Amino acid sequence: MVFHQVGHPLVPVTLDIPVPNADQLLLKVIACGVCRTDLHIIDGELPHPKLPLIPGHEIVGTVVYVGENVHAFKPGDIVGVPWLGYTCQQCRYCKRQQENLCEQALFTGYTMNGGYAEYMVAYEQYCFPMPAMYANAAGAPLLCAGFIGFRSWNKMNEHAENIGIYGFGAAAHILTQIAVFKKKNIYAFTKRGDILAQLFALDNGARWAGDATGHAPVKLDAAIIFAPDGALIPIALRNLDKGGQVICGGIHMSDIPPFPYSHLWEERSIQSVANLTRRDGELLLQVAPQVPVRTAVRMYTLEEANDALNDLRGGKLNGAAVLTL
Ligand SMILES: [Zn+2]
Ligand SMILES: [Zn+2]
Repeated sequence: MVFHQVGHPLVPVTLDIPVPNADQLLLKVIACGVCRTDLHIIDGELPHPKLPLIPGHEIVGTVVYVGENVHAFKPGDIVGVPWLGYTCQQCRYCKRQQENLCEQALFTGYTMNGGYAEYMVAYEQYCFPMPAMYANAAGAPLLCAGFIGFRSWNKMNEHAENIGIYGFGAAAHILTQIAVFKKKNIYAFTKRGDILAQLFALDNGARWAGDATGHAPVKLDAAIIFAPDGALIPIALRNLDKGGQVICGGIHMSDIPPFPYSHLWEERSIQSVANLTRRDGELLLQVAPQVPVRTAVRMYTLEEANDALNDLRGGKLNGAAVLTL
């Protein structure tokens, strides 16, 4: 399924099977998650995508062929491919363990072709061996919603106990299960009156669920925002205890309305989370089977990619949409 132009649906196209270079794997896609970032690309909110583009960056696939420099994987292995597709390992960010900020980075399903396809190529060094329980469609949401959510989580002060999550979709439902495993309290904030999302949050172990515009029942040590609404930042700040953190897990947000400095005072902070490092992925794939995280997945065929994107845009999903092949 190919993206050509903002404002137009993806188009089914028959293409040749891509040829991996010496450092790449050729994968037969088993499943590919549908992420909000895909919507931001298709809606023109992220600049300069590769065009035409095959979107998709939460891919579980079977290795069918490996380039001559590939050593870690062999045909038949099941691997995960995330958003971070390639980094230079030369720039000042790469050299200080911030490859998520690499100046030459390539991103799967954005500046490289992704997984809304039967076959794709991926750089070996950015692929993950999938734990057996996630070597299928259930593993796909871990590869972005899980990874970015866990990077957001790891930005939190260790002593944080009462944690708000704004926007209860794929990332939140994974992170809530991990939070409960780590004996933290999750307060879930959804769109006003979205009872289904609130019940979904409680099902996943949240201590409380309510409207995003309302007050938290306790002062929060941290608030992680996954919804792409900048107006949530001042709202979340007002719910923070002294020293509390607002952590923004999304790649795009609407503008942040002005707010008084007193809401930030007392060492509250606001921080964004950009992309992921391979270490974030390794850490998440270690912890997920211990919990064990159970992903809520709604399956679509590859040809139904536009329906999946529309359902995500319309807030009709509890959990994650995944294209299965
Ligand atoms: Zn770099
Ligand atoms: Zn994503």
